[in-house]
Amino acid sequence: MSSTAPLAVQLRFHGDLDYFLKRAAGEREVRRELSEPTSVKDIIESCGVPHPEVDRILVEGAAVDFHHVLRTDSRVDVYPVGTVDLPGEPLQHPHVDRFIADGHLGKLTRNLRLLGIDVAYDNQMHDPQLLEFMQSDRRALLTRDRRLLMHRVVIDSYCPRSSEPMTQTVEVVRRFHLSGDLKPFTRCLHCNGLLQQVDKAAVIDQLEPLTRIYYEEFRSCTVCGRIFWRGSHFSKLEGFLERFRNALEGVTGTT
Ligand SMILES: [Zn+2]
Repeated sequence: MSSTAPLAVQLRFHGDLDYFLKRAAGEREVRRELSEPTSVKDIIESCGVPHPEVDRILVEGAAVDFHHVLRTDSRVDVYPVGTVDLPGEPLQHPHVDRFIADGHLGKLTRNLRLLGIDVAYDNQMHDPQLLEFMQSDRRALLTRDRRLLMHRVVIDSYCPRSSEPMTQTVEVVRRFHLSGDLKPFTRCLHCNGLLQQVDKAAVIDQLEPLTRIYYEEFRSCTVCGRIFWRGSHFSKLEGFLERFRNALEGVTGTT
């Protein structure tokens, strides 16, 4: 082959990475012709699959990283996070516990905060601010926006496959191995601040008359100062927790 002949690259996307391919569901093979040597990262992303979703790349059976440049005809196998028994080292961090969610994931953010997970969220933020905060505060990005996922500054990130918030919550907990980090009802749903126990006497002048009578234990947000107690909304939160646990076990049991 002369140096000017195109390279033929045959890619196969494993696991659920076909979710990102720009073709019919179930089709996993993509053929690319390249006019010049190209990094595997660029080739994979040209197929629609964002780099934070790729955990292992094998070229002719040998593990490579994203910077590997293809110079000859090659077969490339691309695997998602969670695939076991492959050569090489994972390309993604398996465990991350600090996040920033984009402005479309408000319900997912609320669910994760309910579970005690640290999630920054501001639906007024534009993409550049979101990416800047992600970097400066060293957070993993949660978004369903593929352009954002493919941005070169993004390191840790996840695209919830489902549009349904409870399923998204389960997906994130599983992807980042968070089930050992859950501390329900320890974080403010409104601002992400941590809650602390406060004496009733310290907050009594901020309480409604019936709340003063019926409740003894209070927590306040260390950031925004909101006060929380085991009022009527608490049973709803406990219901959420039970549904979440059932969903987590259900999904785990099927894979
Ligand atoms: Zn707060």
